[in-house]
Formats: sequence, C-alpha cells, structure tokens
Amino acid sequence: MPVDLVKRTAKLLRYQRQIMLDGWNEQTQEKLKESRVFIAGVGGLGCPVALNLAVAGVGHITLCDADVVDITNLNRQFLHKEVNIGVDKTRSARDTLAKLNSEVLFETVSRKIVSETVDELVGDADIIIDCLDNFAARFVLNQYMVEKGTPMVHGAVWGMEGRVSFFDPPLTPCLACLFPQSPALEKDVPVLGGVTSAVGSMQAIEAINYLAGPGPTLGGRMLIMDYSAMRFQDLEVSRNPECPVCGSFDR
Ligand SMILES: [Zn+2]
Repeated sequence: MPVDLVKRTAKLLRYQRQIMLDGWNEQTQEKLKESRVFIAGVGGLGCPVALNLAVAGVGHITLCDADVVDITNLNRQFLHKEVNIGVDKTRSARDTLAKLNSEVLFETVSRKIVSETVDELVGDADIIIDCLDNFAARFVLNQYMVEKGTPMVHGAVWGMEGRVSFFDPPLTPCLACLFPQSPALEKDVPVLGGVTSAVGSMQAIEAINYLAGPGPTLGGRMLIMDYSAMRFQDLEVSRNPECPVCGSFDR
C-alpha cells in the first residue's frame, strides 16, 4: 500500500464506523473537518452538542458562554467536572473535549452574546447552534443569522419537554416567526440530564446533516418531544410574512 494511503487510512480510522454510513465517504469526513461551528451556550444542551460534534470530527468548534461552573449544573452538564466548579464553562468544557479528540480546534469565548458583539463572536461560522437558556440572547443570534445568512439549529428544554428546529430564512421560518416575543421564563427551570442529552444530541445530528450529510432535515418543522410520556410531535412551521426579523427578507 502506498505510504500516503496508509497515513490517510490511519487518520480516518477513528471515524471508520461513521464513514460506513449510507451516503458517507472520506469526502464527507473531510467536509466535517473543514467545518466551523459556533455553539452558543455550554450548558445542558451545549455539552451534548459539543461532545457529539467533537467526536464526529468537526474541525473547528467555538464554545461561547459567559458563566462559570456551578454545582447545580452537574446533574446534566457532563463536560464539567466537580473540580471545575467556579471555572469558566468554556474552559472546563474545552479541557474535557480536548482529551476526547485532539484533532479538533476549540476556541473559547467567555462573553455574553449581545448585538454589539455578536458579529465578532460568531465570526465565520458555517452554522450556529442555539443552546441558550434565555430569549434575549436567542433574539440577538436570530437577528444576526437572518442578516448574515448563517443557518441556526434551535434547541430548547423545559422540564421533560424538548424542542428542536432548523432556521434558515427564506427557506424556513426564523425564531421570531414562531416567537414574536419572549415567552415568560423563570430563571431556574426544572430539567433532567437525560432530556438535555437527548435534545442536544438531536441538534448535533441536525448540524451534521447540514454540514456533511443530505442537508438539513428540520427546516419548516419543529419536533416537540414529551419525555414524560415518550410522545413526540412533528409540527409543520411556516414563515410569518409579518415577521419583524425575516418578514421582508429574501435572498
Ligand atoms: Zn421570521
């Protein structure tokens, strides 16, 4: 076997089982390696999203979160260890992720997402993953992604319920089409680690579908999962022509 082929095969060995998937090949893996993902929030959703994208070989991952690790995070935010209580979540997560896949470049941004800085923070990401727990920052990201044409995978959890969708106007609605105003949210909502793991994993799969696979599958759809009854709904969602963010938008 030629030396370069041996080297290439060895490099791809860790991804062998996913390269075997229908529609996948070495080029698919290369696309993932070249991809840049911005993960907004490294909490209950951000941890499974980052973990799944890192082990799948997404080449460049930005972790954005302004918080530090708190003991009440540990029932679900599994990238953070007990010894990292008080440490920036981005640094704590990166330390764990770097040991899982040393081939991935991780960038950490320990800052809040506000309209003045969102452009600088997201940079040239190919896709944004919304793993936030508040609508103020979500609306900032939503406005940004509509203006920039950067798609966003939305995820949310409240108690035993989770939601996932893919936004990329004008092909799909944006967040503001569905939520013109922020729903009333309490600061500390009930949440179970298994639910955030499941929802975050779905967000990661959707991002991989977009970056390397058949394309996004949740555009114009909102999956609503009730894990207390294990009942899942698949709702069609459409653009609001009066949407204050994307209503007049076309490209
Ligand atoms: Zn909209």
